[in-house]
Amino acid sequence: MMICSSISPDFVRANQEQQPSREEIMQQRMTLYMKYQDYLVPWHYLAAIDQYERNIQDVRKDIPKRDSTVAIQFSREYWAGATNPILDDTSPFSIKYFGGVGLDGNGDGVASPDDDEDIIFTMTSYLSQYGPSEEDFKIALWDYYQSEKVVNQILTISKLFKHFNTNDLDTHVFPVPVRGYNYSYRGTWGANRGWGGRRIHEGTDVFAGYSTPVVSTSYGVVEIMGWNEFGGWRVGIRDNHNTYHYFAHLAYFNKDLKVGDVVEPGTLLGGVGSTGYGKEGTSGKFPPHLHYGMYKFNGRTEWAFDPYPSLVQWEKYTRQLKK
Ligand SMILES: [Zn+2]
Repeated sequence: MMICSSISPDFVRANQEQQPSREEIMQQRMTLYMKYQDYLVPWHYLAAIDQYERNIQDVRKDIPKRDSTVAIQFSREYWAGATNPILDDTSPFSIKYFGGVGLDGNGDGVASPDDDEDIIFTMTSYLSQYGPSEEDFKIALWDYYQSEKVVNQILTISKLFKHFNTNDLDTHVFPVPVRGYNYSYRGTWGANRGWGGRRIHEGTDVFAGYSTPVVSTSYGVVEIMGWNEFGGWRVGIRDNHNTYHYFAHLAYFNKDLKVGDVVEPGTLLGGVGSTGYGKEGTSGKFPPHLHYGMYKFNGRTEWAFDPYPSLVQWEKYTRQLKK
């Protein structure tokens, strides 16, 4: 077969420069965080807030999506000062005079709420007022967001970025081994559930034999681990994309794992079982399966979404991994 290519390598290169790859964007962000971190504000604090802001912009219609390297955005009033007569003020001196937070990070004489460097520098400056401990960071976040759940989500992201020393944690795998075990699943989003009244089935059931290993699908922090009357022995993991991953009906837990632990894609959580639908220890009321749920936190509420399309994608990805 003849393949005719009229595109010159130069053209391809120019095109690639216009559209940076995902890795290049990650690297650009990291460069900014590293440049503006200081001894009170490590890079992963800045990166976590920025990632959180990006996460909620992806799922919220009421807030503008910032189309730049950095997702953090300050309101004009907050930036320029509430009493500032000039809403779009970019003069560092008058902004300061009117009690605004906006600062000139890159030294071009302008404090612009649209400039990535000015934004990151302003955030560093805000956080550094609070002091060096993680408790100080928590209080700074609380004052800024006024929500315990938001603070928890950002602390989770910060912990993950620090632990893995990178902001690039997007890999996902299938929750049970794709080789050596039999399993089956299908998209049953919204089907009726049999016990505990009329509730919608919020998740995907992956049917597999008792004790088939169940692994984490993402990078994350263990948020919940224990008994729940519906889910039986279940684990909840919060990731760096504001997603909460719920693994239910387990036969056993990985005994080395506890709440607060960091996991990565493939970390053993436990084994497939049929626990739940009753008091602690109840088992065998239905065939063994993993109930897998995904919930998205948008900064205000958390809602279930269909994990089936993600599972299909992760299964494909996991199958092409070696070993
Ligand atoms: Zn289920």
